Amino acid sequence: MTNHFNHFIEGASCAASDGRSITLVNPITEQVYATCARGTAQDVNRAVGAACTQLERGAWSRLNGAQRARLLLKLADLVERDAHLLADLDANAIGRSSVEPRRMDLPNAIANLRAAAGWANQLEGRTIPTGGYFGSKTLSYTVREPVGVVGAIVPWNSPLMITVWKLAALLAAGCTVVIKPSEETPQSALHLAALAQEAGFPDGVINVVTGYGDEVGRALCEHPHVAKISFTGSPEAGREIQRTAGVRFKRVALELGGKSPQIVFDDASFDDALRGCALGLFANQGQICAAGSRILVQRGLAERFAAALADAARAVTVGDPREPGIQMGPVAKKAQFDRVNRYIQLGIDQGASLLAGGVSTPERGWFVRPTIFANARNDMTIARDEIFGPVGTVITFDSEDEAVALANDSTYGLAATVWTRDLVRAHRVAAAVKAGAVGINCWSPLDANLPWGGVKTSGIGREGGFGGALAYTEEKVITVLLPA
Ligand code: NAD
Repeated sequence: MTNHFNHFIEGASCAASDGRSITLVNPITEQVYATCARGTAQDVNRAVGAACTQLERGAWSRLNGAQRARLLLKLADLVERDAHLLADLDANAIGRSSVEPRRMDLPNAIANLRAAAGWANQLEGRTIPTGGYFGSKTLSYTVREPVGVVGAIVPWNSPLMITVWKLAALLAAGCTVVIKPSEETPQSALHLAALAQEAGFPDGVINVVTGYGDEVGRALCEHPHVAKISFTGSPEAGREIQRTAGVRFKRVALELGGKSPQIVFDDASFDDALRGCALGLFANQGQICAAGSRILVQRGLAERFAAALADAARAVTVGDPREPGIQMGPVAKKAQFDRVNRYIQLGIDQGASLLAGGVSTPERGWFVRPTIFANARNDMTIARDEIFGPVGTVITFDSEDEAVALANDSTYGLAATVWTRDLVRAHRVAAAVKAGAVGINCWSPLDANLPWGGVKTSGIGREGGFGGALAYTEEKVITVLLPA
């Protein structure tokens, strides 16, 4: 018998209003391992109602910042207690080795919850000197209020960590939430909600409605009592969400995809750059928004670097990530397997040199071989589209100006990395690259205190850091007339 996961609404587990469910398929075995509730607009309405009640007149609405901080710290402790379980839930759902979420996602999530506890008590207003009011003096000040009920829509690639980025900040700000996890990975969000209940969060502050984007996600975007949509996912869905939410004047934060450049100058430390580029290409099977999938290499190093990257790709052990010694599992789903292979074929057809990997034939499990293309041009489809798989495209450049122009010649602008020993040049290039985050001699450093987000098609807004909590508040100004 397979496990079944229900929604979590107002502190209780409940089935979909029409009793329907979604099957969850293991990407290693292609077997159904569980089912979850297929949410409806009615389920969303119930969850939003519970979140509204807590926000407006529930126990949650009466807590001050210090009290919210205490709950956040308790939740952080419980997530730490269950870190291995949470990492395993995410890893098993997408066929990833649980080593990665144990090392990266969970520590980051726990740090976010603890950092948010600090932000909860710092959401201060300002006093603002003014010219008065028709000759009388006034006192004007601002207060930070929670933006309202948030709809948090999450993808499948790092589900727990991305859920916590949203949750920690919005709870610090005093909001309540309906989380819609990806239909592929509902489990960790449901466990997180149960941990929040154990920590003492009032029922209805954190609700989880599982289901599809065009059903549950859309119902959240259309719901009149959802004040803000915080979305992480593809630009295609982001565009539709912005349209739907925009008509209703909801606040929208969009964390979308990327085609991030790794710029390797001749003077870079070869080994460090190689390690960083391989990590940025192959971690989580390349299914990372910040994947450094465009490898721009200066001519003097290009041939040797591409060959070494191809060796690194061939050295990755691919298979069941639960087995010892296996570094890379399958991609998360059949659609992803087909998509990645389609792009690899396009790279071959458009004339890039295939140095390692190639189109994979379907076996049991959706395994894709780590793939490296060299001698590519930036106008090739494999250099323009987000592939979201373990595929790297090496492009050669001559000058710094050309490197910056290539880096910026993209519809995306999420992250970038600069590899060089010349730190003056590193800062110059970092300033010139259009991206939300630039790493100098390190690929995609993440930290709870750092803002994260992109420009152009990579999204709108920032998560993380104190600014991430402020983004879940509205600034209200209050003016008192002070008669003479
Ligand atoms: P996706 O857009 O297909 O789905 C993301 C979430 O949105 C899912 O929960 C899905 O059910 C929901 N959804 C889909 N269509 C919707 C709609 N019309 N209305 C409301 N909700 C909808 O993305 P995915 O395949 O799950 O994730 C991969 C994408 O996410 C990649 O493009 C990746 O770069 C991006 N991503 C970005 C970041 C970041 O921080 N910028 C982080 C992780 C992933």
